[in-house]
Amino acid sequence: MRLIAEIKDRQPEMASWRQHLHQCPEIAYEEEMTSAFVAAKLESFGIEVHRGLGKTGIVGVIHGQDSDDGPVPAIGLRADMDALPMEERTNLSYASRHPNRMHACGHDGHTTMLLGAAQYLAAKRHFEGKVYCIFQPAEEGGHAGARSMINDGLFDRFPMDSVWGMHNWPGLEAGRALAHIGPAMAGADMFVLTIEGQGGHAALPHQTRDPIVAAGMITVALQTLVSRQLSPFDQAVLSLTKLQAGSAFNVIPDTATIGGTLRTMKTETRDEFLQQIETVAKTAAKVTGCDVSMEVRPGYPPTINHEEDAVVARGVISEVLGPDGLETDMTAAMVAEDFSYMLQQKEGAYIWLGAGMESPSLHSALYDFNDELLPMGASLWVRMVEAKLPHQTA
Ligand SMILES: [Zn+2]
Ligand SMILES: [Zn+2]
Repeated sequence: MRLIAEIKDRQPEMASWRQHLHQCPEIAYEEEMTSAFVAAKLESFGIEVHRGLGKTGIVGVIHGQDSDDGPVPAIGLRADMDALPMEERTNLSYASRHPNRMHACGHDGHTTMLLGAAQYLAAKRHFEGKVYCIFQPAEEGGHAGARSMINDGLFDRFPMDSVWGMHNWPGLEAGRALAHIGPAMAGADMFVLTIEGQGGHAALPHQTRDPIVAAGMITVALQTLVSRQLSPFDQAVLSLTKLQAGSAFNVIPDTATIGGTLRTMKTETRDEFLQQIETVAKTAAKVTGCDVSMEVRPGYPPTINHEEDAVVARGVISEVLGPDGLETDMTAAMVAEDFSYMLQQKEGAYIWLGAGMESPSLHSALYDFNDELLPMGASLWVRMVEAKLPHQTA
């Protein structure tokens, strides 16, 4: 492993920032203390700070040396700052002091890793162009802080050629990392199917159009979508998770509803299947005489790494963590991530940094970010900047 020595030496200081953030978790768009902490640190490093993108988001601008000619090259590095609405059960000395709030996804660590890199880059300024350090709110819970920052002009006010994200990953050894070529994480959409029938007496079914029978047929028919209509080389999950109808033993109800979620790895599959769900449901219900309508509640799109950038990231991982530190075999995950909105607009890639095999899973009440990762993540960030921008040896 070839961590940057000055960053490695600051691991205890970074761990103290991380544990401070861990004690004060804030959820979507409420990251007031967190963003104030980030802004104060950036300012103390002499970095230009822009506040209030996506309500509580922050962009730190690190100016490098002027380039000789042409447009200024620029790179964006993104960390998420938000916590989850849940109770912590770790009993750590620095456990959450906020009721029903917990940093259970390691965003306290992601924020700290980027601060550590920013501190080093601002001290050296050994690159040409600009580094934008993006601290975003509201990644969790579908609140799409990344999209809020984009809507507030992130890419217009801070023009960048590429954007990069990083997440710690329990189940992958600490000291190893991965950048998928192509899809890294799924898109996750929700939908509600409303079945309109005609209710009546349970003993007189011929006078009704039974939405419960329709719901049964739809439930079975939808099982054929992934198994029979998806290429074996693609991946998707369709789960029906809510089925509601009826209120009495002797009444056939007027309506039934089915709710579910669709997870896909490709934008094309997502678009096609969201249409197909409605078509299959309407067709399956036809024999009952019921009508079906569908409401889609869009979630995060699939997170798709740009192939060339994923190759660059893999080179950086090998350089910093050693050739054994590069994981290449892990498949993409069916969880979703709003960094996908940034990758829809910019080149770049998303890196998983192993958190260790012993780490409790993300979103567990026992989870805690592994502070060993702080110098690894910060070193990866710095080398990523060097891989993308012209620079001198620091
Ligand atoms: Zn999470
Ligand atoms: Zn997360």
